[in-house]
Amino acid sequence: MEVALIKPQGFCSGVTRAIKLAKQAKEEHPDKNIYILGMLAHNQILINDLSKEGFITLTGDEFKEIEKLNEGDILIFTAHGHSEKLDKIASDKGLITYDATCFKVKDNLNKIKKEIEANHQVIYIGQSGHKESNAALSVSKNVSLYDTKLLINYHLITDCSPFVINQTTLNFYELKGYHNDILKHFPNARIENEICNATRIRQEAILKIDKDTDLIVIVGHSKSSNSNKLFDIAKANYPQALVVMVNNLEEFKKIDIKNKRKATIGSGASTPQYIVDEIYKYLLAI
Ligand code: SF4
Repeated sequence: MEVALIKPQGFCSGVTRAIKLAKQAKEEHPDKNIYILGMLAHNQILINDLSKEGFITLTGDEFKEIEKLNEGDILIFTAHGHSEKLDKIASDKGLITYDATCFKVKDNLNKIKKEIEANHQVIYIGQSGHKESNAALSVSKNVSLYDTKLLINYHLITDCSPFVINQTTLNFYELKGYHNDILKHFPNARIENEICNATRIRQEAILKIDKDTDLIVIVGHSKSSNSNKLFDIAKANYPQALVVMVNNLEEFKKIDIKNKRKATIGSGASTPQYIVDEIYKYLLAI
C-alpha cells in the first residue's frame, strides 16, 4: 500500500521533558519507588512502558492517592498540570516532588493567576474533567469553565471584560467559534489563543493530506485531547476516507481495510514513535 506519514511525529517537547524528568528522578533515587500522580502524558502505551521500567502510576483520585504516600516518597506531577492544593499537601507531607508540568501549561496558569490577582474573572475554554482544565479551575472560584460540549452559564460572569484563555490541546479551528460566542455576550472580553504549537502544527498538517487518501490512521490514546482533535479534523475534512484512531498495531489489525490503496498516518504528541513505525511498516507490506 502507498503510505504517507504526517509530520511532525513523536513526542512534543512537553512530553519529552516529562519523561526526562521522570528518568532523572529515578537516577537520583535508585532505591526508592517513583510515583506518578496520574498519567505522565495521555498515552497508555507510554504508561505501560514506564511501568515496565518500575514507575508507579497512581490512577485514582489525586487527593486520595497523595494522602496514601509517606514522608520521603518520590512523586512526579504530570505534564498537563495539577491543582496548587496538591503542591501544598505534598510539601506538608514531606514528599520529594518533581514537577513535569509543560512550560506552556504553566505559562497559561500564570496568566490566569495574574488576572485573578487583578480582580478579573476568567473564562477557561476546556474539557470538563481534563487534568489541565482541573488545574486551571483550581486557581480560583473566579475561573469559570466554558466546556467545549456544554458551553457555559454566562450568569456566573459579572466582569464586563473577562479574560478568556483555553486548554492547550483544543481544536484550533473550533476555537474561533467559542470566541465568537463569548464575544456576543462580552464584547469587551480579552481573548488569548493558547493552543500550543505542537497541537496546532499537527492539526494544520492534517489539512494537507492528499485528497485521494482513502485511509487515515491517527495513532493515539482516547484520553489524549490532541489525538482526539486530529481524529475529529480528519473525519470532518476527508469524507471519502476511512478515518480511524488506534492505540497500537494490534488494535489496527482488527480494522477492515480491504480495498484501501492509499494511507496516511498521523499521531498525537504523546504517542511513542515506535508504535507509529510498526503500523507504517505493516501498511507498507500490504
Ligand atoms: S501537547 Fe502542548 S501543552 Fe501538552 S505537553 Fe505537549 S507541548 Fe505541552
